[in-house]
Amino acid sequence: MHHMTLAEIARGLADKKFSSVELTQTLLARIAQLDPQINSFISLTQDLALGQAKAADERRANGESGALLGAPIAHKDLFCTQGIRTSCGSKMLDNFKAPYDATVVAKLAAAGAVTLGKTNMDEFAMGSANESSWYGAVKNPWNLEHVPGGSSGGSAAAVAARLLPAATATDTGGSIRQPAAFTNLTGLKPTYGRVSRWGMIAYASSLDQGGPLARTAEDCAILLQGMAGFDPNDSTSIDEPVPDYSASLSGSLQGLRIGVPKEYFSAGLDPRIAELIHNSIKELEKLGAVIKEISLPNMQHAIPAYYVIAPAEASSNLSRFDGVRFGYRCENPANLEDLYKRSRGEGFGSEVQRRIMVGAYALSAGYYDAYYLKAQKIRRLVKNDFMTAFNEVDIILGPTTPNPAWKLGAKSSDPVAAYLEDVYTITANLAGLPGLSMPAGFVDGLPVGVQLLAPYFQEDRLLNVAHQYQLNTDWHTRTPTGF
Ligand code: GLN
Repeated sequence: MHHMTLAEIARGLADKKFSSVELTQTLLARIAQLDPQINSFISLTQDLALGQAKAADERRANGESGALLGAPIAHKDLFCTQGIRTSCGSKMLDNFKAPYDATVVAKLAAAGAVTLGKTNMDEFAMGSANESSWYGAVKNPWNLEHVPGGSSGGSAAAVAARLLPAATATDTGGSIRQPAAFTNLTGLKPTYGRVSRWGMIAYASSLDQGGPLARTAEDCAILLQGMAGFDPNDSTSIDEPVPDYSASLSGSLQGLRIGVPKEYFSAGLDPRIAELIHNSIKELEKLGAVIKEISLPNMQHAIPAYYVIAPAEASSNLSRFDGVRFGYRCENPANLEDLYKRSRGEGFGSEVQRRIMVGAYALSAGYYDAYYLKAQKIRRLVKNDFMTAFNEVDIILGPTTPNPAWKLGAKSSDPVAAYLEDVYTITANLAGLPGLSMPAGFVDGLPVGVQLLAPYFQEDRLLNVAHQYQLNTDWHTRTPTGF
């Protein structure tokens, strides 16, 4: 039962082959048995899940249908869930029970999805390895000595280990696409504003975007359908109609213009990954796509710009965790200043503290123009590069990451080495564009992802291309040994 995709589950439930309660019980037992190996959950919500599954079975018995009705999922632990711990992977919020549901959580619950639990993540979504979580590192099911990617490493490892078919995640600089690549999943970061950020604990508000992590493009379409849409509670949510994503999967790729940026293949990319990317290009050519070399000349400036803008926004967003209003408070503070200092010093881990300091520095008087303003100008150049490219091509294709998943601990003492691994993903966040990563093969037994980028609001095109690719390849069907 645990091998089924969301699409297969929907068919099985509709045909009464099993009930949502049976499926939920099976998966909860599997999580209890296998999750100790990978540490992908921070909280399990058995009672909520069984209640939601029972309600979904009743709704089906009363004639309701829907692809998510009775489907088991989990939420990255930065989506607020009413009455349930929402920790953001931090000691700071270990005692925080959200007083309301995030819009994404509420929408998926209304569609009948069953929440099995809250998944592990890098603290406040800062990281690419899921090693900065206060609840411990997550292990990659493909090789337990390697990282699963981050920051949505818990969602990715859980889905890859077949503990559940799909999960929500968020992507500020790659945190859906990079863990998807590292664990052989399909993950989609939507256009900025497509999915509501209300109730999603903020890291860098102008970059953060929620999206689906699943095994197939078909399942990402199902989950995105339940997440996307205008939300009056989020002032950056965009009031654009949501297409029927599942209906758009079957389009032909005949004549599709794929741009391949020449900058993607320069030094730094593992040549074995480059070869797999070229294989995926050949596969898409067989399906009728036309390949064109393009250029994204400002790509080299994206990492420094991102690592100014994201910490700057984080330093502002995280100022609310002061030991007074909610979250962790130190013992026996001597005075108010001591309360602030020790609550934040003890509640935040080292990567979060580093980013708060970098961000506060970049925003301070005298340095604002030199760092923050300059980074915003680079952001505009990066966006302009994409706008120029999309005049000539329909999608852009390349690697998701320069290397496969590294060993646990390999980069934890060198933050800049980890930042450099984000080179292919962060440009989409700076520009607000949608991006998808899908399985493209293996290097040393570790999965490799190919990334597709599209113009604003063309998530349907990304899903269509990925689905057609997956009808003709079987990388996405491979299962890690032991799971
Ligand atoms: N690795 C990037 C960072 O650490 C991206 C994280 C994310 O997308 N949440 O900021």
